[in-house]
Amino acid sequence: MRECDVLVVGAGPAGSIAALTAAPHCDVVVLEKRAHIGVPKQCAEGTSEAIFEKLGIPLSPKWVSRKIEFARLISPSRIAVDLKDERVKQLKFGYVLERKKFDKALAELAAKKGAEFYLRTQYQGLKREDNHVVIKARQFDKDLTFKARIVIAADGLMSRVAKDFGIDSTTKLRHLESCCQYEMTGMERESCIELYFGNEIAPKGYAWVFPKEGDVANVGIGILPTKAEYPAKYYLDKFVSWLGLSGTVVEVNAGGVPVGGPLDQTYDDNLLIAGDAAHMANPISGGGIHTAMLSGKFAGETATRALESQSTDKETLSEYETRWKADFGRELDLSLKGRFILEEFTDEDFDATAKWMNEKGVGQLGALDLVKFALKRHPKFAIKFASFLTS
Ligand SMILES: Cc1cc2nc3c(=O)[nH]c(=O)nc-3n(C[C@H](O)[C@H](O)[C@H](O)COP(=O)(O)OP(=O)(O)OC[C@H]3O[C@@H](n4cnc5c(N)ncnc54)[C@H](O)[C@@H]3O)c2cc1C
Repeated sequence: MRECDVLVVGAGPAGSIAALTAAPHCDVVVLEKRAHIGVPKQCAEGTSEAIFEKLGIPLSPKWVSRKIEFARLISPSRIAVDLKDERVKQLKFGYVLERKKFDKALAELAAKKGAEFYLRTQYQGLKREDNHVVIKARQFDKDLTFKARIVIAADGLMSRVAKDFGIDSTTKLRHLESCCQYEMTGMERESCIELYFGNEIAPKGYAWVFPKEGDVANVGIGILPTKAEYPAKYYLDKFVSWLGLSGTVVEVNAGGVPVGGPLDQTYDDNLLIAGDAAHMANPISGGGIHTAMLSGKFAGETATRALESQSTDKETLSEYETRWKADFGRELDLSLKGRFILEEFTDEDFDATAKWMNEKGVGQLGALDLVKFALKRHPKFAIKFASFLTS
């Protein structure tokens, strides 16, 4: 049996940052079921600039594929709104990463700090024993046993670890965005992320083109299956021909994103839940890299402090939830409400909003202007907006 202080399940951004944060202070083990960290990629790879500044992770050309200068929103009738005005630019659009290299680089950083990684090692189950957790795992054809004081569940969508601790981590179908993506070559693009809206194009979701280094781009789509007639791939193929893209598909990616907002409880005795495992992706954009990394950091720090104070009960570990909520809880909350409003948009609403944004000048508009505009079109949004503004 391998004994340790902290056992992390999952070497995605949440798990590796948790390990990187805790490893200088205690004995950390990471279990990862895949043979190659970050492979296959299930991501469009776009993320903000701010997260790297916030976590003090120096950018590396090894895993930054493209710096993004601006964003373009495109309505069903192809009215484009370029978010490149000086005021909007302060948002800093960030980067398109190379996740296969990025996830591996984060794991390498954690390993350098002392975390021990077990690859091709699948978490299988656990039981509490005194004030510890005994974890069963399978590496190739071998059974392994670990004993840890704190477990960090960073095992992604539908976390099995959280479930085994008695926390319902199921994502309801209504809140599960289904995504399909092609990585394509022969795609000369500006350094701009393109987001396409419309109920025919991507029912209750959006389609995207994210440029990478050279002539490569991620072309993908996310839909709500409960509101769509066909699977995501059908809409993706339709989108590719609608745009007239003639590039070559060199990779196909698919996956789900939890867009129903975070779990009600993200900790328990001896347990912290981070990233997608805790449903921390942004409900509108589906982006979850930044919240996975931030929650991983808070989980690593909370675990370290709990071990120092010799107390790993849920009262002590509740500090974790307080910290992530203070940082990005409101972002997730507002986005969920915003998602429900966007779901009501007709294609005419998307077109009219795009036209209006261009007429007014995007840089001059605040969130309240958008609210007022939508209210004028649809008084029925009033109740939803009221809860949006008072939250
Ligand atoms: C098509 C698509 C496009 C996306 N595009 C973007 C984007 O552009 N920007 C963005 O910010 N987000 C995007 N996301 C979301 C983003 O990929 C996730 O939010 C992010 O990867 C979450 O990180 P994580 O570490 O929590 O989980 P993950 O990255 O899912 O990592 C979980 C890890 O746990 C491992 N694991 C699972 N079960 C076990 C087990 N039993 N034993 C051992 N290991 C296990 C997995 O193999 C995996 O390595 C996208 C998602 C999809 C599906």
